[in-house]
Order: sequence, then C-alpha cells, then structure tokens
Amino acid sequence: MRCPVCGNLDDKVLDSRVIEDGKAIRRRRECLACSRRFSTFERVEEAPLVVIKRSGLREPYDRAKLYGGLVSALKGRPFDDSDIEGLVVELEDRIRGNSGEVNSSEIGLAVLELLKEVDKVAYLRFASVYKGFDQIDDFEREAAFLRIDSGPLPAKLEKESPPSA
Ligand SMILES: [Zn+2]
Repeated sequence: MRCPVCGNLDDKVLDSRVIEDGKAIRRRRECLACSRRFSTFERVEEAPLVVIKRSGLREPYDRAKLYGGLVSALKGRPFDDSDIEGLVVELEDRIRGNSGEVNSSEIGLAVLELLKEVDKVAYLRFASVYKGFDQIDDFEREAAFLRIDSGPLPAKLEKESPPSA
C-alpha cells in the first residue's frame, strides 16, 4: 500500500484485526521507507470472491455459510465467536487466489486442512460430512491415521464420543 506520507509502496503488516462484526479487517502497517504507521481497511464486499461449484455454476462467496460450517464443526469445542472469526479470516486468506475465483472443493479442503491444524475432533466432524469422506471406510481410516500421527489424545478428548458419520 502507498505510504500516505512518503508515497513508498513497501510496508510491513504489524497487526490484523477483524472489525465491524467480521465485515472488515483493519491492518496496521508500517512504511519500510519512513517508518510511518498507518491503517488500511479491507472489506469483503469491495473484492467479491466467486465460488465455482461442482456443477460449474458460479455464485458469490458466502461468508455466513463458511462461518456456519465452522460453528457446527466446532460445537462444544473451546472456540469462541472471535476465535471462529479469526479462522474465517485465515481461510479467506488461504482460498482467495489471484483470479478472485475459487472452486467449492478447494474451500472444503482448506477448511479440512485448517481444522486438522487447530482441533482434531472438529476436523473429524467436518470430514464426516464433507463429500470427499462420504464413505465410512475413508472416515475410519482417516481417524486411525490421526491417532497414529498424534499419539495418545489428551484425556479431555478421549472422553468424547466419536462424531457420528
Ligand atoms: Zn513512508
């Protein structure tokens, strides 16, 4: 972004924050030339993302849908609203390509990948409803792999009943 003081185009982002109920992101930036700090605001509405569905149809990206999916997957898990907002922002960063278009399957995979990083129970829950995992065998195999990868789960997780497929 162009520095409002010296016009330099190079800056570093110091902090990113979701504001206005998740409708915008405010980033604090620092000019690499003059060190002046300034803020930029990004709004989803200003840069619409288009989702290409399996059928080939295009539809506008629906943030509420992604948010809702995460809320279901993380139900009962230690994530509050602002944590989930943070995950949505992270996902949007990951799926937003240069073209402004993304395949719906890429969104699903991005969600899977992120949940795998942050919460294994939520990951398995989401995987169980995600189309690529609609075979119960796949789901169970994946669960077994996770158990091997991560060693014994913390006691808190062990008590949870497995998510129903
Ligand atoms: Zn500057």
